[in-house]
Amino acid sequence: MTFDLIIRNAALPDGRTGLDIGVRGGRIAAVERAIAAEAGRVVDAAGHLVSPPFVDVHFHMDATLSLGLPRLNQSGTLLEGIALWGELKPLLTHEAVVERALRYCDLAVSQGLLAIRSHVDVCDDRLLAVDALLEVKRKVAPYLDLQLVAFPQDGYYRSPGAVDNLKRALDKGVEVVGGIPHFERTMADGAASVRALCEIAAERGLRVDMHCDETDDPLSRHVETLAYETQRLGLEGRVAGSHLTSMHSMDNYYVSKLLPLMAEAGVAAIANPLINIVIQGRHDTYPKRRGMTRIPEMRQYGILCAFGHDCVMDPWYSLGQADMLEVAAMAIHVGHMTSREAMRFAFDAVTVNPARIMGLEGYGLEVGCKADLVLLQAKDPIEAIRLKATRLAVVRGGRIIAETPARLSRLSLEGRPETVDPASYAPLG
Ligand SMILES: [Zn+2]
Repeated sequence: MTFDLIIRNAALPDGRTGLDIGVRGGRIAAVERAIAAEAGRVVDAAGHLVSPPFVDVHFHMDATLSLGLPRLNQSGTLLEGIALWGELKPLLTHEAVVERALRYCDLAVSQGLLAIRSHVDVCDDRLLAVDALLEVKRKVAPYLDLQLVAFPQDGYYRSPGAVDNLKRALDKGVEVVGGIPHFERTMADGAASVRALCEIAAERGLRVDMHCDETDDPLSRHVETLAYETQRLGLEGRVAGSHLTSMHSMDNYYVSKLLPLMAEAGVAAIANPLINIVIQGRHDTYPKRRGMTRIPEMRQYGILCAFGHDCVMDPWYSLGQADMLEVAAMAIHVGHMTSREAMRFAFDAVTVNPARIMGLEGYGLEVGCKADLVLLQAKDPIEAIRLKATRLAVVRGGRIIAETPARLSRLSLEGRPETVDPASYAPLG
């Protein structure tokens, strides 16, 4: 029996070590000790971690890498970011949006990030960004799964034309229904938008992912309506609430009622820790709220939770490098999730959990899964997060599509080692 590729002596995210992964025909064909077979290519993992690829389940690819166009966000606030995006929108060209998105996908691939759910703003009668990202989706399909969400940035009811534009975007092939209920004119309009958008998803057999309650207002409770509509329309397991930052500020008693309702409805939660920590709490003096939604508490109710990057070098956030380990690290800090178990969960929240929310077929490390893999310069998931570990190799369909040299510093110190390997400091066991 021969393989196209064998990765030898890998550690897996579930804690197993010393395993070989054999790949044939673009799929994982064997995961076992010491595979005795030939292969077209053999990679020695040297005990390092091999993971399925990173997944970013919340991103804005129509805005990425536009930093400084047409000006910088001076206040750093969400509302100035939205206003700034409004200034940029009429200036966008198809070619520029495609080029920036493709460049971002290059960066993503180098970071082992091979699946992205991107919201695309439909509050533009030209639907220029929709057409551009549909083109990008086709172009990157061989190496990156791009799933698009029809997102009415300026409000489904508040923005003239958004109701019609959202339908047109879905007709063109955008596959997830978005929303922004807290940005509608009234609470009632917000609730009505959730109802209408979930009905569209039910009619068309689509998934739902709404920007929901991205505010510090504890009375912004649209996630309650989202859970209700999910159950009413039989959308369980297909709906996600993104951000949910108002929950950070909600009354504990209300949350104790809300979380079981979300769990019953199978509504997933997507936090965006890098963005939440800089955008929320902006009207606070001291103490300043963190704003990230209640991930540890939601986990206790069995709610599926994931972390998204949301923004990289755009009107809302001028930092970022497509590194989902940076996202996981921020979540751990903001959410006080420093137990060993919670840190391992944080790795799942940028890999297997978002893959479930996106409904990715063949994702994982079992035999029969797609041979999409990342070899990290780390021994386990916690060390990977600690180091924002180097992606030594990125594999798509059994083919190595990106490689980065190991991080190794040379020292010139009397009586000390000549090199420092950051991945050599993990405690044993
Ligand atoms: Zn977003």
